[in-house]
Amino acid sequence: MSIQENLIQIKSTLPKHVTLVAVSKTKTVDEILEAYNAGQRIFGENKIQEMVEKEAQMPKDIEWHMIGNVQRNKVKHMAEFVKLIHGVDSLRLLREIDKQAKRHDRTINCLLQIKIAEEDTKFGMTVEEAKEILQSPDISELNNVCIVGVMGMATFTGDQKQIEQEFKKLKTTFDELKTLNIGNCQLEIISMGMSGDYELAIECGSTMIRVGSHIFGERNY
Ligand SMILES: *Cc1c(COP(=O)(O)O)cnc(C)c1O
Repeated sequence: MSIQENLIQIKSTLPKHVTLVAVSKTKTVDEILEAYNAGQRIFGENKIQEMVEKEAQMPKDIEWHMIGNVQRNKVKHMAEFVKLIHGVDSLRLLREIDKQAKRHDRTINCLLQIKIAEEDTKFGMTVEEAKEILQSPDISELNNVCIVGVMGMATFTGDQKQIEQEFKKLKTTFDELKTLNIGNCQLEIISMGMSGDYELAIECGSTMIRVGSHIFGERNY
C-alpha cells in the first residue's frame, strides 16, 4: 500500500480524541511530502539535526514533534519551531528549553517521559521524579515552557499482557500527575503507542500515537 493509503487506513480507525504523529525519521523529504499531500500535518523526528534540515525544506504549516532523547546542547537548534517535545526527562532539560524558547519569545510545549518499560534501555523518569518536577518551586519560574502531558514507551516484547500493564501504568501516572497544580498548564496528552501497539495503547487511554513504519514502510538505517 502507498503512504497515502496507509494514512487513510489508520485514520479511519482512530477515535476523534486521538492525534496521529507520523514518525518520519530516516524518511526522505519526498516521502514526507507524500504524507503531507494526503493531509498529514504532524510529523515526529528523533534526531534534532535531521528535523531541522527537513523543517527548512518543508511547508511551514507542519507541526514538528521531537520524539527522541534530547541533548541539552542541541535544544537551541529547534527552539524556533518545535511544537512539542515528547522526551523531557529532567528539570535541567526543562530549564534549557525554557531559556531557548525565551530567546524566540515563544512557549514550547513538553511531555514528561515516564519510564514504564522493564528494559534498562528505555529513557524516562520515575513517577516520583515527575512529581518532584511538577511540584518544584522552580517550575513556576519557567514561563516559556508548558508541561502538557506524559509520554512512554512499552517494553519491546510480544507479550501483550505486559505491554497492556505498562500502558495502564502510564495512564494511572497521568491521572495522578494531573491532580497536581502546575500553574497555567494543563496535563492533557498521553503519548503512547507505535505501529505495533497503538490499538492497545488507545484502549488503555492514549490520546497521541506515534506511528512510523505502518505509514512509511520499514526503515533502512
Ligand atoms: C521510531 C519511533 C516511533 C515509531 O516507531 P514505529 O514502530 O515505526 O511506528 C515511535 N516513538 C518513538 C519514540 C520512536 O523513536
